[in-house]
Amino acid sequence: TIILGIETSCDETAAAVVARDSAGRGRILSSIVRSQWDSHRPFGGVVPEIAARAHAECLDELIRDAMAEAGIGFERIDAVSAAAGPGLIGGLIVGVVTAKTIALVRGIPLVAVNHLEAHALTVGLTDGLDPPYLLLLVSGGHTQLLLVHGVDHYTRLGTTIDDALGEAFDKTAKLLGLPQPGGPSVEKAAKQGDASRFVMPRPMLGREEAHFSFAGLKTAVRQRALQHAPLSDNDVNDLCAGFEAAVLASVADRCGRAFDLAAEMLGEPVADFVVAGGVAANQALRQTLRDLAESRGSRFHVPPVELCGDNAAMIAWAGAERLARGLVSPLDAKVHPRWPLDATAPRAIGAGV
Ligand code: ATP
Ligand code: MG
Ligand code: FE
Repeated sequence: TIILGIETSCDETAAAVVARDSAGRGRILSSIVRSQWDSHRPFGGVVPEIAARAHAECLDELIRDAMAEAGIGFERIDAVSAAAGPGLIGGLIVGVVTAKTIALVRGIPLVAVNHLEAHALTVGLTDGLDPPYLLLLVSGGHTQLLLVHGVDHYTRLGTTIDDALGEAFDKTAKLLGLPQPGGPSVEKAAKQGDASRFVMPRPMLGREEAHFSFAGLKTAVRQRALQHAPLSDNDVNDLCAGFEAAVLASVADRCGRAFDLAAEMLGEPVADFVVAGGVAANQALRQTLRDLAESRGSRFHVPPVELCGDNAAMIAWAGAERLARGLVSPLDAKVHPRWPLDATAPRAIGAGV
C-alpha cells in the first residue's frame, strides 16, 4: 500500500509518501517539511491566520515535490491521509480539504488522522515496534503519559495540569531572549551552562498520579532572571542548564510513576518505553529516559530527530495503519481543533469543512 500524508495542524507544512508492506512494515519514500518560523518570528509566536495562509500557499507545491521525490505518479497512490486535529482550525481545513479533493478525484480512500496518534505510532514506522507500549508524548501543545494498546486504543495515565513541556521550553527561551522555537535554543545554551548555579524546584516529585506541571518552573526561571538582570551569556546558559536539569528530574520521576501504573494495568512489567513528539528531539531528555528504561529492565525507543517534530511521514503511516484496519473516513469528515487521544470521536469538538 502506498499512502500520501499531509500535515498542516500548526506551523509546519508537510507532505510525505510512505509504503506499508503486507507484513505491516513501513518505508518512507519521501518526506518534506517546510517550517513557517520565518513568518511567525516577528510576532514571537505562531499567528493562526498567517499559519493558515502559509499552508494554503505552499501545500500544492510540497505535495508535488513529495510525489516527485518518491518517483511515483498519483495513479500509484492507494489512499490519502491528513491531520484532522488537534491544531489550528484554519490550517487543518487547508490540509483536510486538499486530501478530500485528491481522494475524490482519484477515487481512493480518505483517512483523517489524529496528529497525536501519528506522533504515538511513529515508532511502528521507524522501529517496527508493535503495541502495547508505554508512551511519553512531549510536544508543543501536549505532555501526556499514555498506555498504547493499539491503533485507536489509548489509556491516558498522566497529563500536564498547566503548560506543555515544549511550551515551557518556548516560554523560557522567550523570557531569556533566545530565538524561537525555544526547545533547540534552550538545549544549546544549557549544554554550555552550569546546572548547579541556579537550582530550580522539581515540580510534582513523588506525587501519586503521573501528572506534570511546568508553570511554576517557568516562574522560577523568571524570578532568578530578574534578580540577576542584566543577564550575561553565562547567566543565560546557567539558567537554561538549571531549567533543563529540573525538567529532566521531574519528567523521569513522573515516567517512573507511569511505569508502575502501566504495570498494574497490564498485569506485567512494561516491556517497551517510547518517547515521541517535538521535545523528544532533546538529547539530554533522550539520555535520561534511556537510563530510566534500562533501570526498569525495559527497552527504549525514540524516533530519529527529524521524525520527532511535526512531519507528514507520521501522518501517512498512521493513515496506513488505520487503512489496514478498515478505519477510513467519509468525505464529509470534520476537523477537530480539540481532539483528545483517549476519547472517542463524539466527545471531540468538530467543525464542518
Ligand atoms: P502538538 O504536537 O502538541 O500538537 P506541535 O505539533 O506544535 O504540538 P511539535 O512540533 O511536535 O509540537 O513539537 C514542537 C515543540 O518541540 C516546540 O515546543 C519546540 O520548542 C520543542 N522542541 C523541539 N526541539 C527541542 C529540543 N531539542 N529540546 C526541547 N524542546 C524541543
Ligand atoms: Mg510545530
Ligand atoms: Fe506535533
